Amino acid sequence: MTRHSPPPPTMGCSDAPVLKERGQHEVFCGLTGIIWLHRKMQDAFFLVVGSRTCAHLLQSAAGVMIFAEPRFGTAILEESDLAGLADAQDELEREVDRLLARRTDIRQLFLVGSCPSEVIKLDLSRAAERLSARHGPKVRVLNYSGSGIETTFTEGEDACLAAMVPALPATDQRQLMMVGALPDVAEDQALDLLGRIGIDNITVLPARHADARVGVGPNTSFALTQPFLGGTHSALERRGARHIPAPFPLGEEGTTAWLRAVARDFGIDQARVDAVIDAPRARARKAVAKAADSLAGKTVFFFPDSQMEIPLARFLTRECGMEAVEVGTPYIHKALVAPDLELLAEGPVISEGQDVEKQLDRCRTARPDLTVCGLGLANPLESEGMTTKWAIELVFTPVHFYEQAGDLAGLFSRPLHRRDRLKLEAA
Ligand code: SF4
Repeated sequence: MTRHSPPPPTMGCSDAPVLKERGQHEVFCGLTGIIWLHRKMQDAFFLVVGSRTCAHLLQSAAGVMIFAEPRFGTAILEESDLAGLADAQDELEREVDRLLARRTDIRQLFLVGSCPSEVIKLDLSRAAERLSARHGPKVRVLNYSGSGIETTFTEGEDACLAAMVPALPATDQRQLMMVGALPDVAEDQALDLLGRIGIDNITVLPARHADARVGVGPNTSFALTQPFLGGTHSALERRGARHIPAPFPLGEEGTTAWLRAVARDFGIDQARVDAVIDAPRARARKAVAKAADSLAGKTVFFFPDSQMEIPLARFLTRECGMEAVEVGTPYIHKALVAPDLELLAEGPVISEGQDVEKQLDRCRTARPDLTVCGLGLANPLESEGMTTKWAIELVFTPVHFYEQAGDLAGLFSRPLHRRDRLKLEAA
């Protein structure tokens, strides 16, 4: 079994030139985030104010999940609404009143804007204010936009969390806020590690239940768990909270650096941190090494999709021995990804934005062993004999922190194994 020791930190790709692309995008819109957000916030309801297309997108993204009481839905704007012939604003508010009368379990309601609601300039913030006044304090009504011709599918979560920040109560308490909607299993592990390191006042945004007391203020330090939370980062800073810059907790190295950065912020010495993390670190290294055997020496090409590309490239190159050819990402928020960029060795093309045809040409020329991309590109590339990984799986699967590090590497090695098996069967 090969162990891939990461090279010592350099300034890596911090100052690498960025290829800025402003052409056609191939992305899902931010409504997709509802699929994992509604699982996380167990007493929230997401009401998309959109068209039948939006309803279909949600249904197909949700797959075949059947709920006795679903926690998302679509208020369909009919042609008369779109033509301005009906008062969509009043109708929406009546619809919400009916929903809340029927569903007494709902404690937070998100009105989610879409392309059609924005085209007719439906004022969802005014609707949310009026509905909050009517149904509060039991139900908090907020709004955000999930629309997306120019957005990426992870921006829905960012917009949702950013919308929650202004409504958080103020606090002067010294506390850590962990920000990002992680699967419960990964979140619980992080909270356990942070607690054992000595951080005892921790809140999580988004909380699982509306009545969890999540406050924010000048003595709040926050650590992001996802690199696509640029809007939430700004909203928290506007409330006086301080960001703890760190590589994202993906893989053994990222998790260790993230935990150490948080501990430093709270004045906890590294020896105490290391005593807690030694055993899980060793387990993570072992698990990653197992999956990394089939990744070492292979090339990887990222199309811009989830905004997780830079931390993932750091993980795959430094812990799994892969070589990144191109790392494409929709946006580069330096305030968020600078620590990961520093660790990413110079070499790959770093591209921001997308011009899909040009990028497809670069990918076809490079013929990478593995291409990480959205669903829309995966099938055509597979039919050309390329091996692909759908980026969207990374937000549905627990991949953060030590105990998931091996699974994270496995998500990338599995498509290569599948391709090898297909070749064997065809031979
Ligand atoms: Fe609805 Fe716009 Fe998303 Fe299409 S891109 S599903 S119209 S919000």
